[in-house]
Amino acid sequence: MRSHLCNRCGSCVGLSEGKIVFEDRTGDYRPVIKSPINNELAEVLWEACPGKYFDFKRYRSVFYSQTPHFHEFTGPYYRIGIGYAQNPETRLKAASGGIISAILIWLLQKKFIDGAVVLSMSDKEPWLTEPIIATTPEQILAAAQSKYIISSVNEILPQITTFDGKLAYVGLPGQIQSIRKLQAIGHPSVKNIAFVFGPFYGNTLHFSSVNSFLRTYGERDHTQINRLFFRHGEWPGNMRVELKSGRVIQLKKFHANYLIPFHILRNSLYCTDLANEFTDISGGDAWAPVYEERGKGFSMIISRTAKGDQILEQMISEGALSFEPITEEESIVMHSHGYDFKKRGAFIRIQFRKWLGKSVPDYGYIIRDFAFSRYLMEIVISSLFILLGTKVARWLVERLPPTLIGGLFEKTRNVWKKSTYAIKRKNLKQ
Ligand SMILES: Cc1cc2nc3c(=O)[nH]c(=O)nc-3n(C[C@H](O)[C@H](O)[C@H](O)COP(=O)(O)OP(=O)(O)OC[C@H]3O[C@@H](n4cnc5c(N)ncnc54)[C@H](O)[C@@H]3O)c2cc1C
Repeated sequence: MRSHLCNRCGSCVGLSEGKIVFEDRTGDYRPVIKSPINNELAEVLWEACPGKYFDFKRYRSVFYSQTPHFHEFTGPYYRIGIGYAQNPETRLKAASGGIISAILIWLLQKKFIDGAVVLSMSDKEPWLTEPIIATTPEQILAAAQSKYIISSVNEILPQITTFDGKLAYVGLPGQIQSIRKLQAIGHPSVKNIAFVFGPFYGNTLHFSSVNSFLRTYGERDHTQINRLFFRHGEWPGNMRVELKSGRVIQLKKFHANYLIPFHILRNSLYCTDLANEFTDISGGDAWAPVYEERGKGFSMIISRTAKGDQILEQMISEGALSFEPITEEESIVMHSHGYDFKKRGAFIRIQFRKWLGKSVPDYGYIIRDFAFSRYLMEIVISSLFILLGTKVARWLVERLPPTLIGGLFEKTRNVWKKSTYAIKRKNLKQ
């Protein structure tokens, strides 16, 4: 809980019957033990916790033994493609191509589920997120789009337990790893979960990113936020804050990415799952100039289980989803930057932690023996994260106009991506 291994999935809070709570959600956002935990509960919490231990190979054999294809980067899969929701409203309101929301709405309308666990923005505190069980298409759509601040979907386990009906569940890799661990031991809290979906996951940010964003525009009080979006408008969308005063602040998503190195949740750096490998279907952005130029919203879609693939098949044949198959190799090249960050960088960073005598996660697999240049690159990346995460660096960046720093960040990132192109793609497909 106190190390960087905690990804804030929320399972310990959800399962603890009020004994563990999240404190300071706009600060460090840690689970805190409020009253004594007996051994029996402690054992369940430890088993449910994905932070220290999640054996990829073991859980693959539990949930994906029938899945025909596998790559260490993409995880197990039936098929991979690029697509989008055919319903224009869903596509526009969503983060990328709207496939996750479209699938949830389709399952609900076909009565395959009675509700969907999604991450909404809070009504009471609209600057924070809140997991809910959506039982209408309107609620699913209202909870669409990616939220890039720390969120704890599994806090909602008590409501999932008592829900009367079948549920689809949407979560980030760490949250899903915990759900899979609970399913593997047949825990009653997850018995209603019939389908598991989730977005790709690069990183998430502390709430300080929102405060910092506000400060660059001369606003000091996040409680004045009326509505907060991270991917508002046409793909790839905008970070947008609507204040109670009526003021609207908006910055292109690619420019708002400048917040990442200043406010990244350290656990993101030790997570080795980009493509949300333990879902039935996962979806990411289709990052490629050919799609980015067109706007509108395109997703990469990966079906991973027989039931996930059947959903895809039926939705495509009914005209609810557009889907163009791509090869494993094409999908890896499209996300080479992300796979490099997660499947190489994370293992190197874990190794660095180990050398420093700090606790490290055990994923049941290790990828190693990268080129020397990749280790050097990681020293630069990790040093930047440490340097830019300091109070001084954050203070300095808030003095610059966000459009300037955002534009600068985007350009630097593109130069960096090009100059490290060869290192990142080396042996990527093997
Ligand atoms: C923190 C984060 C990091 C990401 N990093 C990458 C990346 O590096 N590369 C990439 O290609 N794609 C990344 N994505 C995925 C991408 O932003 C889209 O979510 C994905 O393409 C699905 O798009 P969609 O239009 O189908 O989703 P939508 O139809 O908009 O549905 C998204 C669903 O995800 C849920 N959700 C949103 N945020 C969270 C959250 N923080 N925790 C749990 N559930 C959530 C919503 O409630 C909704 O049900 C990231 C997403 C998140 C949330």
